[in-house]
Amino acid sequence: MDKKEILSKFSADPERYYKVKLFDDERFERKSCATCKRFYWTIDENRVNCPDHSDDTYSFIGNPPTAKRFDYTQAWKEVESFFVKNGHTSVNRYPVVCRWRDDLYFTIASIVDFQRVMGSKVVFEFPANPLVVPQTCLRFKDLENVGVTGRHFSSFCMIGQHSIPNSNGYWKDECIDLDYRLLTEQFGIDKKEVVFVEDVWEGGGSFGSSLEFFVNGLELGNAVFTEFQGDLSNYKTLDQQIIDMGAGLERFAWLTMGTPTAYDCCFGPITNNLLQQAGIDTNDELLVTYFTKIAKHLEQFSDLSEVRKHAIKSAGLSDEQINKIITPLEGVYLIVDHIRTLIFAISDGALPSNVGGGYNLRMMLRRIISTMNRLSLKFDMGEMVDMQIDYLKNTYPELEKTREDIKTIIGIESDRYENSKLRMEKIVSNLNQKPTVDDLIKLYESDGVTPDYLKEMKVISDIPSTFYSKLSELHQSKKQKEQDQVSLEGLPDTELLYYGDDPKEFDANVLKSFDKYVVLDKTSFYARGGGQEPDHGTIENFEVIDVSKHGNIIIHELKNGIPKEGSTVPCVVNSKRRDGITKNHTSTHILNSSSRSVLGSWVWQHSAFKEEDHARLDITHHSALTDDEITKIEDLANSIVEKNIPVTIENFDRGTAEQKYGFKIYQGGIVPVKSIRIVSIKDFDIEACGGTHVKQTDEIELIKITRTKRIQDGVVRIEFVSGDTALDYVKRHDADLIKKSSELKDKTELKEKRQEQKQELREKFPLLVENIIQSEIGSTIVDEIVVDITESGKPNFCCTTSDQYDEFFHIGLGEKLIEKDPWMVYCGIFEDGDKIRAIIYSGDQAANDKKAGDIAKIVSEILGGAGGGNQRFAQGGGKDKSKKNDAIEKVKSMVLEV
Ligand SMILES: [Zn+2]
Ligand SMILES: [Zn+2]
Repeated sequence: MDKKEILSKFSADPERYYKVKLFDDERFERKSCATCKRFYWTIDENRVNCPDHSDDTYSFIGNPPTAKRFDYTQAWKEVESFFVKNGHTSVNRYPVVCRWRDDLYFTIASIVDFQRVMGSKVVFEFPANPLVVPQTCLRFKDLENVGVTGRHFSSFCMIGQHSIPNSNGYWKDECIDLDYRLLTEQFGIDKKEVVFVEDVWEGGGSFGSSLEFFVNGLELGNAVFTEFQGDLSNYKTLDQQIIDMGAGLERFAWLTMGTPTAYDCCFGPITNNLLQQAGIDTNDELLVTYFTKIAKHLEQFSDLSEVRKHAIKSAGLSDEQINKIITPLEGVYLIVDHIRTLIFAISDGALPSNVGGGYNLRMMLRRIISTMNRLSLKFDMGEMVDMQIDYLKNTYPELEKTREDIKTIIGIESDRYENSKLRMEKIVSNLNQKPTVDDLIKLYESDGVTPDYLKEMKVISDIPSTFYSKLSELHQSKKQKEQDQVSLEGLPDTELLYYGDDPKEFDANVLKSFDKYVVLDKTSFYARGGGQEPDHGTIENFEVIDVSKHGNIIIHELKNGIPKEGSTVPCVVNSKRRDGITKNHTSTHILNSSSRSVLGSWVWQHSAFKEEDHARLDITHHSALTDDEITKIEDLANSIVEKNIPVTIENFDRGTAEQKYGFKIYQGGIVPVKSIRIVSIKDFDIEACGGTHVKQTDEIELIKITRTKRIQDGVVRIEFVSGDTALDYVKRHDADLIKKSSELKDKTELKEKRQEQKQELREKFPLLVENIIQSEIGSTIVDEIVVDITESGKPNFCCTTSDQYDEFFHIGLGEKLIEKDPWMVYCGIFEDGDKIRAIIYSGDQAANDKKAGDIAKIVSEILGGAGGGNQRFAQGGGKDKSKKNDAIEKVKSMVLEV
């Protein structure tokens, strides 16, 4: 559908499509622009042009229309408090990595937060109605404008005001009334300055009218009323109408500050700090003139360099002013913008790479480096990250958690770039003509040479304006998978027995049989899905070789014949195969969280595959794994196996699950259903997953990583085995077979002995825990366990280095103690072969500032090794047994310090 056609149709009937109550109440007049004829609403009787064509366009630069000044952070507080005061729920931002949609890499608008794709339909799921959200959005198609135009960003905060018209929400009249009052009452803008322009929106089969609102020629927001579906000759009202008002927070701040550019007021003190470091002597008056010209004439030229030339000429700038002020200023603006985008993206789990959305991130980091080199700027990346997070955390406190991880990734990626410079220099020296846009794309995609590098090397002077939009088109969305078509019309959904009692033998009715396929009324055969391979077995006497899911119907593929339609058939699932697959599936979850905990927050499951006797997990990670990392991942995974943690499965409404657990649940990709199944291994790993799982982790027995490989930039494959296969593997693959098998025998004996000990200790635990908890204030010793109880409201400490206790004891006691006393910190140190190990637990209250992970790190350092974990549970150790007491003393002082 053509937007122009919709607009002319809607504008021909303004009473129906555009006129809201406010326009009557405040006596707005509808006018047509004297220049472009577009329709707009205003109370200013002298206005003759639309905001794009008025003389007052961008007049706020140097002369803001509000009495108060609000920077980026304060502007959001103003907007938020206004909407909350008016009955809205303020919702935290969603991740910028859009894991709930498979057609987008990054979140590009606030409404995307609430869109879920089911089949070919987009449905809306609102956590509250009405609501407001400060959604960080990433957009890469205008990158060449960033830093130059004064108003383009690679990431920006879209203020999303959303409502579904029902008993809680509202529709057009109230929306426009709120937006008008936000501008005039909350921000104190003169009513005369607010102009609403008629427009329309269409996408995904629906469309509706919209009203853009402007102040001093600056578009602040656009209220879209998604109202109809169909085409212009025949359309009907949607069942689910939506208000999608998106406004640019950066623009609100800019309008009230009246700085030369939006960059001057949207990064807090950072822009100024960098300008000072760079020694750029800004001249406000000159900048106001120059950037007002840029802003006003941006739309008049097709090429950005023309706009720039025009502004330079009409502001009367000298070459020296361009070289000493404008060019370096543009560089600083670009850097400050790009760093902020990288912070959000990396914090939400994206990695710079040469695949998918990672392309854009790598491009941005390389732009920063080239720009610094070209302009001889010497900013410290880590320091810039720190300054940004210090400023942003007022609005986005979650960034604090990944501060160090962000610096790590930026550091690794910068080094990688430096290392590829020799190769790039060679490529560039072989270029014998000015590259076209296609050449530039090829240079970047195959050799990592960015146009900014060519600019730095003086091969080109400007980056062609179509380069970034073309590149971003190539890398914006993933291709949708095509579904094969099987005619299953009229068949009911298959009853899924494997989500219930999961019988391995059952009788079922044959609803349809054709070619080599069978559809039953119910089945216990797991269908291929989520990387889990299908069950095998028999139906009647025919072998089942594949099982697949089509919508809610399961199709079994048989060998050597099919049973008759209408018959009742005996079915047997191969339970040995299923067991192997199931163990591998739960192991995948365990390894995924172990990898994240060992490597860093950027680790996500990229994909997974689980067969009966082998499995693989692909994770997002920047480098190949070292032997040490592999050992740590495997050890952590096996400690979870040994701890025998129950694996629980619960069903949640999708929105509830997302709010409760966050988007980390989508390790296996999007879930296209409303009710989702959450598989949790306590709080160690929580994922949305439709697969089969063990009931307790020790059913897995052993997880053994057999091979790891960096399979593409940013993705590492971990191949592994578990259960019997892992035990067999250990047996088979060790060079010293005899030694290993005797060890295995010892292990079995040891296991039996330990089992007995465990039983004894298990009986002892309740009493011991009671004794410890009941201790008086001060220091007590119970069974070689030292207990330090402080006054209430302060951390208590309990530790032991006694050799009579093993790992099982420390884990069992630690768990129980912190459960009973949330102020307790437990530290068990014990010898294990040639190593000395530490196990730390910190109760819910104590963990607020005594995090188990932090303690484990420090203890392990003292013991000459490494350790870590989460705030509740952590472990580590080292080889220096002589430091046992030093370690305990250190932990004690850490915990009990005031
Ligand atoms: Zn106009
Ligand atoms: Zn799973």
